[in-house]
Amino acid sequence: MKYTLQPLPYEISALEPVIDTKTMDIHFNRHHKTYVDNLNKALDEMEIENLSLEELFINISKHPVAVRNNAGGHYNHAMFWKSLSPVATELSESLSKAINNQFGSLENLKKEVNEAGLKRFGSGWVWLIIKDGALQIISTPNQDNPLMDTAEIKGVPILGIDVWEHAYYLKHENKRVDYLENIWKIINWKEVSWRYQTELNKI
Ligand code: MN
Repeated sequence: MKYTLQPLPYEISALEPVIDTKTMDIHFNRHHKTYVDNLNKALDEMEIENLSLEELFINISKHPVAVRNNAGGHYNHAMFWKSLSPVATELSESLSKAINNQFGSLENLKKEVNEAGLKRFGSGWVWLIIKDGALQIISTPNQDNPLMDTAEIKGVPILGIDVWEHAYYLKHENKRVDYLENIWKIINWKEVSWRYQTELNKI
């Protein structure tokens, strides 16, 4: 199976001023593209046929580290681009209720996500996941994600925020906190709500 870099669902400059065009260009056209290219190379060297990324993640610890890093890199970024939107979107009633029940308020959820993102030492991601029907905030190192068997806490991600320096350094320099505080202005809640509902419907 060959993976391809799918076009962004908006213009490269659409997320200005929260994410500047140069950062988007390098992040998407170079970083994400490299994960896709290297994933295809790594899979060529193995004899894995027709496994989806999700299927690979279930046993990722048994595969070469290049597969882990690049399959994660591709999956995480593809999800990240879809989780952002240049236009304001609203949470579904059911996700809104679940957030209020578990975190007290949306503001509090944002605060807890930002704290988890700030605590991640080095490169990684912060996630909102569904685990046993409930929402939970976790973070993973490098290009790992909560679907991998290597994750300390596993679950289905409904929102992932990239906290690698390449996601924010050109605009925010070393201030990850500024990036995290601003990214909430462009979260695609419609997409996150859809993922939440899709997952709940399976339970
Ligand atoms: Mn990235």
